[in-house]
Amino acid sequence: MEVVLAEYLGFCYGVKRAISIAKAHADGKSCTLGPIIHNPQMVERLKAEGVGVIENLSEMSEGTVIIRSHGVGPQIYSKIQAKGLKIVDATCPHVKKAQLSAKELSESGYSVIIIGEKNHPEVKSILEWAGGAATVLETEAEAENFAQCKKLGVVSQTTVAEAHFQKIVARLLSKSKDIRILRTICTATEQRQSAAMDLAAKVDVMLVVGGRNSANTTKLAKICAERCKTYHIETAAEISPEWFVQSKKVGITAGASTPDWIIREVQIKCQRM
Ligand code: SF4
Repeated sequence: MEVVLAEYLGFCYGVKRAISIAKAHADGKSCTLGPIIHNPQMVERLKAEGVGVIENLSEMSEGTVIIRSHGVGPQIYSKIQAKGLKIVDATCPHVKKAQLSAKELSESGYSVIIIGEKNHPEVKSILEWAGGAATVLETEAEAENFAQCKKLGVVSQTTVAEAHFQKIVARLLSKSKDIRILRTICTATEQRQSAAMDLAAKVDVMLVVGGRNSANTTKLAKICAERCKTYHIETAAEISPEWFVQSKKVGITAGASTPDWIIREVQIKCQRM
């Protein structure tokens, strides 16, 4: 059976960077605030190396708090400092840019709009950097209903699709005479989605590797399932030979939070079938 990897798959730049920062602070006294990425296997591996996970700052009284790539709002930095804990900031530079753009717009008197998902931790952090006064828009209808204002500043969640961003911006152009659009999109997600789309159209079966709690992996699985038989797995151990009966070609993709070693194990297991 031929096994083909998607052109873009697995860890993005921001996740790779966050993991390597966490590893550099694996001293048994460092914890990430929330899981560093949505991949249980990677989180367990880091725990074994000496990087724990806390869900709340109340769980820590000494040591180092590692901020994950999604970032957090300014209040969290203040709370960490007030507790006398050290901070290691692994916020992805793309996310940082969105946060600081929102801050700058807000401080310059713009009504800030964030294009993205209301409940995503990254969007919540951008909102906090905008002083908590920004509006999050998810749909074109929401943009249409946005009231006229004097000065309007727009940023986006880093993982928003370009086409969606442009559609919402088009609806906002008439809402103010003074409008500033800061395109804070990162291309990693779209690259993985379009590579998965291309590959799924050329193979009999797709394996999408990554945490079941990873939104971007689940989205990849959905995209692939629209094109061919698709299985979302977390590890190679889940692979079943029955999936490939009469299949000549299998494709593999993986979310931005899936470690290379898991992708490799899946690839090797498929090649042996
Ligand atoms: S998807 Fe982009 S913005 Fe998000 S962590 Fe990865 S590189 Fe950074």
